[in-house]
Amino acid sequence: MSDPAIRVQNLSRQYGKLFAVQDLSFEIPRGDVVGFVGANGAGKTTTMRVLATLDYPSAGTCEVLGHNVVLEPEKVRHKIGWMPDDLGNFENVTVIEFLDFYARAMGFKGKERRERIEEVMDFTELHPLADRLSDKLSKGQTQRLGLARALIHDPEILIMDEPAAGLDPKARVELKRLIRVLADDGKTVFISSHILSELG
Ligand code: ATP
Repeated sequence: MSDPAIRVQNLSRQYGKLFAVQDLSFEIPRGDVVGFVGANGAGKTTTMRVLATLDYPSAGTCEVLGHNVVLEPEKVRHKIGWMPDDLGNFENVTVIEFLDFYARAMGFKGKERRERIEEVMDFTELHPLADRLSDKLSKGQTQRLGLARALIHDPEILIMDEPAAGLDPKARVELKRLIRVLADDGKTVFISSHILSELG
């Protein structure tokens, strides 16, 4: 049998005495869209950051398509698109420069790089904003840029941390539509929210 998209076994992450995550186990089959719901501080972001190889387990194992996140982080990074709840601070960088930077970081060159950027900008309808500064976008536009960045290497799995937070109803509907298109394309999507209805 093929490996699930994500397998988490007895994951704990401890910061000093505090358990951000304690003995968590779950599996996500390939191609599923799965919501990750929990109160503020329940440990959703920590779990997702471990899966995205940005943090590490204190105990337990996490695998992405059969690759252990601690032992094979490079393989995991190529399989996963990570959309954090905050894109970080980028001053004086336009939308297209921002995406070009990440496409380069993922190792794309020349024509292929231009094609990847074109494709994600098409998908997230960012072309009209190409020359806008990336730190001066609205919340909805920033989310679309975050999604474009996460998809730049066409990953099989997309992990989204609170993508609907702060979006107006129209932007939420649009986000759901994009997630549905990704799911129809066979991608596995793992989405966190502290509000169950947001994921409906
Ligand atoms: P939210 O819905 O508010 O984003 P969450 O479910 O994503 O919450 P986490 O951000 O994973 O929760 O945090 C879980 C717990 O771990 C919280 O008590 C948080 O304060 C703590 N925590 C997270 N990261 C660290 C860190 N780097 N150092 C110390 N404590 C941390």
